Amino acid sequence: MPTAFARAETIAVGSELLALGRTDTNSGVIAGRLASLGIDVVARSIVGDQLAHLELAVRTALQRADVVMLTGGLGPTEDDLTRQAVAAALGRTLHEDPVQLARIEERFSKRGLPMPDINRRQALLIEGAVRLDNPNGTAPGQWIDLGDQAIALLPGPPREMVPMLDGLVAGALGARASAACTHSRGLRVAGRSESSVEATLLPLYAKWREGSLPIEATILAALGRIELYLFVRTADAAAAGAVLDQAIAEAADALGASVYTTRDESLEELAGRLLSEAGWRVAVAESCTGGMLAARMTDVPGSSAWLDGGVIAYSNALKTVLADVPPALIAEHGAVSEPVALALAAGARARCSTQVGIGITGIAGPDGGTDAKPVGTVFIALHTPRVIACRQARFVGDRAVVRQQSVSAALDMLRLALTGHDPVGLAR
Ligand code: AMP
Ligand code: MG
Repeated sequence: MPTAFARAETIAVGSELLALGRTDTNSGVIAGRLASLGIDVVARSIVGDQLAHLELAVRTALQRADVVMLTGGLGPTEDDLTRQAVAAALGRTLHEDPVQLARIEERFSKRGLPMPDINRRQALLIEGAVRLDNPNGTAPGQWIDLGDQAIALLPGPPREMVPMLDGLVAGALGARASAACTHSRGLRVAGRSESSVEATLLPLYAKWREGSLPIEATILAALGRIELYLFVRTADAAAAGAVLDQAIAEAADALGASVYTTRDESLEELAGRLLSEAGWRVAVAESCTGGMLAARMTDVPGSSAWLDGGVIAYSNALKTVLADVPPALIAEHGAVSEPVALALAAGARARCSTQVGIGITGIAGPDGGTDAKPVGTVFIALHTPRVIACRQARFVGDRAVVRQQSVSAALDMLRLALTGHDPVGLAR
């Protein structure tokens, strides 16, 4: 029985992938196929068409991976060096494969052309390699079984690479599939910084790593949300599920109400679902976000079930005309103020006859800040049948960041209010 493979590395070969803006799509496709075999990609690299760099990349990959999957660099030209690089890394020779040479000659003669001499390179096989036929091009692939390890050389063009990969998945690679695979669960947090989430979870990380099924944790920070992912590698899917569910429950417990979901759903999807469950509809009056909140809400399919719409009340005059904000309130407190945000929320709600109104007014920058209200100061008000609340936020970042954070914060206030939490109490 050959050993199963657990770890893989992909190497995309081609200077065009580094300098000319071509995207390496092959490595992602390979990672997906390998995952289905229980083989995790532990490193992915892109290497230019240079023999020394390629040889080093192959040697390095062999130090950490069971299977190394290379794509590209199998063409007939001078810069196609993958065959030589792998041969050098293994200390093996290259020899001309007469069967392959005949195939290439035949491909040309079918088109009534003589085979250019440079195409002979494509018939070079690494000592001990198995030729992988390529019905869609001249470059054959190669599979080198090293015992505990293996190397695949696949062509660069995706339409040639993918069928060959699928052949390997059904054949030599599939035979080394691992019963164990990586199981994962995640949760999403709003209104907290990455460092605050990390600090809360730190004691759990140690505990999770020392369990009978060790758990690896990763935190991803996006604008306005933090995602935690937990991974376990095992052949026992039921045990993985139990361990991960327990760990996610522990994390959710430690993080409290800032956890908004353990599903694959966005804040706006969740807010919409909660509104639907409550039988409430929402309207918005947006100043500094200029409609971005309504845009994110309407990103959700079926949002007409819970969103009425609203207004972009950017000028002071329109805050009054469209959302009934009293001019005296603006004169007394300024357009960026808690009373004006509350009036925008109340105005949107009253004008649209919805149960919920949201008002946003702030200073997105780069100009317009003062000592008392610096750039990034945003007032977000929420008006529901149960709560009237306003959060004064201070976001740090450029105009786009401030605006996106404002939208996320508004959606999170809505989510908190709809789940019976204080909509402003948690923000930190
Ligand atoms: P090569 O086999 O290096 O001659 O590559 C031939 C062509 O395949 C390139 O010009 C690209 O258009 C395409 N290609 C090569 N590598 C990749 C990759 N990693 N992802 C997507 N396309 C690729
Ligand atoms: Mg190339």
